[in-house]
Amino acid sequence: MESWIRVEAAGIPIEGRSSAGHESFYRLPTLRSALEIGRCPQELVAVPNVFVTHAHLDHAAGIATYASQRTLHGMATGRVFVPAAAAPGFRKIVDIHRELEGVDRYRAEIEGVEPGDAVRLRSDLEVRAIAGRHRVATAGFTFWELRRKLRPEYADLRPEEIARLRRGGADVAGPVDRMLLAYPGDSGVGIFDAAPEILRARVLLLECTFLRPGEEERARRYGHLHLSDIAARAAEFRNEAVVLTHFSARYPRGEIFDRVAELPSPLRERVLVFA
Ligand SMILES: [Zn+2]
Ligand SMILES: [Zn+2]
Repeated sequence: MESWIRVEAAGIPIEGRSSAGHESFYRLPTLRSALEIGRCPQELVAVPNVFVTHAHLDHAAGIATYASQRTLHGMATGRVFVPAAAAPGFRKIVDIHRELEGVDRYRAEIEGVEPGDAVRLRSDLEVRAIAGRHRVATAGFTFWELRRKLRPEYADLRPEEIARLRRGGADVAGPVDRMLLAYPGDSGVGIFDAAPEILRARVLLLECTFLRPGEEERARRYGHLHLSDIAARAAEFRNEAVVLTHFSARYPRGEIFDRVAELPSPLRERVLVFA
């Protein structure tokens, strides 16, 4: 864990590692989840819900390890959510490992998701799948805090009147869910049209693989974002914090911070660098 990166974005801790083409995973301790699994470091085995955006191995290689380790340690069945189109392939891989290990049943399940699918993690916490935009089948994920608030038509009533209505079965509170975090995974620039809701999450965890002028075409070709794509939309980000991640391994750490610091204000003040 020594080489892990830790940031706290608008009160949400994000821990892990991400370097394009090498390995990506993030542990979200307050949200009972991991995003991506990388090669499955030991610290991720105990995480009950894993959301993998796409099948590139630097994000997904550890799924069978996760399943095997949870079984070995007698843990409850873990859930690994992947894009629906990739689910049969992942099930096949994990099943081959299960057979080779001579195990009857692994304590992990692969579940395919489509945009709009919801996964309840707690009575007050839900993950919803959103569209992705990358070179292979991709799903993004948004984390929602589920809250209910008194409906405006009841706002002027006294507490005892509200209690009476409630006892009588009236639905006095309506949902006011809040998007805590959005993560679209590896993304081409089309993500801003495909899933514009990410711009309203409290925290946006966003890849920014390419940074240098002249690399824009390369970013397009590989279905990744370039820092200039983010700069061009600076005014559209409504997020409290934008965590930029998944930088190409070619950049020295100092260069990453220097280039990100060139983003226009006031976006720049809300950006955190995960490197
Ligand atoms: Zn990647
Ligand atoms: Zn990828």
